Amino acid sequence: MNYKNLSIIDIHNKLKYKEISVKELVDNTYKNLQAHFENNFLVTLIENKMSEFDLQNLFDENNLLSAIPYVTKDNISTKNILTTAGSKILSNYIPSFDATITKQLESNKCILLGKATLDELGMGGTGLFGFNGEVRHPLDNSRIVGGSSSGSAYAVSAGLVPFSTGTDTGDSIRKPASFNGIVGFKPTYGSISRFGVIPYAPSLDHVGFFTRTVDDAAILSDATFEYDKNDFTSFNNKKEYYKNINGLNKKIKFGFLKPVWKYMNEDLKNKYQELFNQIKKDDNEIILIDFDETLLKTIPAIYMMISFSEGVSTHSNLDGINFGIREEGKDYIEIMKKTRTKNFGKTVKKRFTIGSYQLKKENQEEILNRSKKVRRIFIEKTNELFDLIDILILPPSFEPAPTVKNVLGTDVEDRKDYEGSWIEDVLEIANFNGMPSITIPFIKKENLPIGINLNAKPKEDLLVLQAAKYLENLIKANNFEGGELSE
Ligand code: GLN
Repeated sequence: MNYKNLSIIDIHNKLKYKEISVKELVDNTYKNLQAHFENNFLVTLIENKMSEFDLQNLFDENNLLSAIPYVTKDNISTKNILTTAGSKILSNYIPSFDATITKQLESNKCILLGKATLDELGMGGTGLFGFNGEVRHPLDNSRIVGGSSSGSAYAVSAGLVPFSTGTDTGDSIRKPASFNGIVGFKPTYGSISRFGVIPYAPSLDHVGFFTRTVDDAAILSDATFEYDKNDFTSFNNKKEYYKNINGLNKKIKFGFLKPVWKYMNEDLKNKYQELFNQIKKDDNEIILIDFDETLLKTIPAIYMMISFSEGVSTHSNLDGINFGIREEGKDYIEIMKKTRTKNFGKTVKKRFTIGSYQLKKENQEEILNRSKKVRRIFIEKTNELFDLIDILILPPSFEPAPTVKNVLGTDVEDRKDYEGSWIEDVLEIANFNGMPSITIPFIKKENLPIGINLNAKPKEDLLVLQAAKYLENLIKANNFEGGELSE
């Protein structure tokens, strides 16, 4: 029996029809994770110590998530289990409490088997900058897997677990999902509690999932969308997502931003055109929309200003005093300076330096407040789009995952981890206004995946999941090569 490449529903059915026992499932999943451990995708591999009897009792025919193994991103707190956020400064930090999402998955009887590597503090898009080493693409070791949720993407893409958690401040779930031929879902801001999740930039941070199918993303939404009094940005976005996933009962108006079109190469454009034709055959609409290109070009700058400032401010507690690694010094200032100098990586230091500069009183008005105003314009313009359309389609990446050489060969400055243009950051619109956003597998180029990304108005998570399910089927039925990755 091959325990790889299974979805949550596949595993549930195998358990239900007694093709496998929970013990076999856990042992085999653990073995598969262990076999890949040297690839750095996990900071911590977790051995399950439950008895065979207790494990079997976890399974509940009426709960699709019961006894499902998973890994969680290592910026998500797990009680009594190392939680590093990918940073050396937290490389000895063991939380005394669980994040809300950890508790929710535990109360649904999911089995946590690993803590997944990330770019330090979620800052980065490559998977090359976690303190425990590089994570590479599971299909091609010369390429990046993408980040910052690098280990989480690796685990699902390599078929080791049916789902993993991720966080997304700019595109950290949706971009790696595209590179890896898997589903990556970032729900509406506040749908999933961030209590116990080590932040990057709180006004942009979202928690979400990597899965193999859209159905599985809906199942996880049912389990985790909940108001949490410990997170003041959370709200009750509970609905029956999985039950209604096939319930799309109207013709959908899909929109595409005209200015994005000209940045796509011919092959990619042709594939989008073919897909649009199929969509129209089903009597759905494709609407090409004018959107101010100059405004679009501000995306990276706005993202940097806001996220770097929030990042440096939220991480002022990583000072070696209260928790984490400490370098000794003669007083508080020296301890803090030495600890931060020695234990933060290059990307984090750069982002903190720029963030601090923007937070200086004299720069706040000139730089930070102006960025927030532009963000506001984005929010208004994006919301206006949804008066015309139901679903906004964006390309989550324009090419397959780049090679590590390409990434490191270029001047690795903060923003551009590899050669590319501003347009690659187009997904960040969804972090500005908090709309639900999902990437699903679309095509392959030289056998490497490229996904497609769908967005809906904030709180229209059901609609975006339903539309994603519709496209998932359409892509498979028309053989866009969006299906399974070969092993
Ligand atoms: N690539 C973006 C960055 O470098 C996204 C990070 C994220 O979403 N956590 O910041």
